[in-house]
Amino acid sequence: MARILNTVVCCVCHVNFKTSSSKFTECPACRDTTRKNTLITNFPKSSFGKWLVHRISQSGTFKVMSSGVTHSSLSELYLLWKARRRYSQSSYCHISDEWASKLSLHLCHLYPLKGSVGCVGELTTRNLVIAPSTLNNQFKNTVFNTGYYVKSNSTLTIKQAKKMLITRYGAEVLKFQQEHNLLPVNKKPIATSFSITEQEYTLITIAIMEATRLGIEVFQDDDSDTIFNRILKGASTMNTIHTKAPATLSPDECDEVRLWSTHHKVKEFCDKQLSLYYFLSTNDDRFNYVTMRDKNFSKEALLDLESSGLLRDTLINTFESAAIGQRLYTFIVNAWTSFNPDRLHKNSKFVESDEF
Ligand SMILES: [Zn+2]
Repeated sequence: MARILNTVVCCVCHVNFKTSSSKFTECPACRDTTRKNTLITNFPKSSFGKWLVHRISQSGTFKVMSSGVTHSSLSELYLLWKARRRYSQSSYCHISDEWASKLSLHLCHLYPLKGSVGCVGELTTRNLVIAPSTLNNQFKNTVFNTGYYVKSNSTLTIKQAKKMLITRYGAEVLKFQQEHNLLPVNKKPIATSFSITEQEYTLITIAIMEATRLGIEVFQDDDSDTIFNRILKGASTMNTIHTKAPATLSPDECDEVRLWSTHHKVKEFCDKQLSLYYFLSTNDDRFNYVTMRDKNFSKEALLDLESSGLLRDTLINTFESAAIGQRLYTFIVNAWTSFNPDRLHKNSKFVESDEF
């Protein structure tokens, strides 16, 4: 059957366009613009968007997102914001018609939102930690020697912050929304927000995950309180991981490893991949830290997390996108599997991946 094309006048730009469908009143170009605008305007109405706008308004400046308002800085915050929900292990009870959480967790500022006069704590993943709400309430705006801040005395109402987000950073919000498509909070049916948590999170595993993400050292006998206090209040151990020399092989050493490796894949790694692979799979105590995308991780903490089945989550929350976290996870598991499969969590699935 031949399609019958009708000529229709676009209700927005009044240009003629041809369509076989009677449902379109806008030309393809206008339809595209409308779709993009909807994605952008939905953002500040979403649960995460509302949270973000509130925090920016409280600090009075967009400078709190110190690396700039970009789709990747938004994604990074979103992943962390989502992790707090997941770790809280909320479930909806149909009998009482209420939400209940297993753990009461806050997204706490390391350098407080309102610290010293003229200083506001950054709204960045490096200045935020998922921690028990009791600790957050206890420390409130106390300034410890931790975290990151920006200088600002400006004020911004919620309305102004919302408007600026759309007008000034609309292009970045659009890129973020094309990936995440967050919907207005009240339009989302309750059934879709209901999620069954497969993974059980305990305070100690959350503490190790957050310390690892922030590059703060964890010791064998630490309990969750000790770790959270160290993260929030700082300690002499703070930044230990960052001050250690990153583990890298020299080009000559890389050639040597390639020459003797029995794995085909290893022979094809670039120097950076090869170093990481080598340090992950060696038993040598001199190499306690591995460097991934300029962040240093304690090998011991990575192993602890993997044995609790939480390494994937931690990496996903550490890097700017879930895809990068997933790729690194695959890479690590690959390195360990070829070294000693017994050390891995029983649920680890090794997926072939050439990407890094
Ligand atoms: Zn049009």
